[in-house]
Amino acid sequence: MTRPSPAAALNGVQCGNVCSGCNRGIRTGDKTVVYATYYDAEGWVVRRVWCDDCGSTTIGLPTDGADEVIVEAVYWSGRVVGVKTVDRSRP
Ligand SMILES: [Zn+2]
Repeated sequence: MTRPSPAAALNGVQCGNVCSGCNRGIRTGDKTVVYATYYDAEGWVVRRVWCDDCGSTTIGLPTDGADEVIVEAVYWSGRVVGVKTVDRSRP
């Protein structure tokens, strides 16, 4: 089975609006950086959300066995939209 593209799968999904770095609220229309993982049972799932100031555009230490991705997006009323992949642990 082909794994869906993270940008397509994550576009429009619900996410929290508190930055994991500085705890500030992310408001509708703000740029955001999201870290997500893929496991077969769940598909792509948002794990962390950062504001534009805190967001890193590279994956840090890899997580065992997970397909990981960093995407840039716009936070919009509890969802991420306009998702673009900026780094991914697997090709
Ligand atoms: Zn922040």
